[in-house]
Amino acid sequence: MIQSIVEFFKNLPAKHCQHCGEQIEEQAECYGNVCHQCIGLKDLNS
Ligand SMILES: [Zn+2]
Repeated sequence: MIQSIVEFFKNLPAKHCQHCGEQIEEQAECYGNVCHQCIGLKDLNS
């Protein structure tokens, strides 16, 4: 059933950036729990 597939994805725990709280999509594990944006900001600040 299509509806159960939708429910499956809805129930998947979404990763959120530990820095800004934005939802992280297709994030490489090596980046941990920080989104690309915050990684970029971190690079600019360092
Ligand atoms: Zn972030």
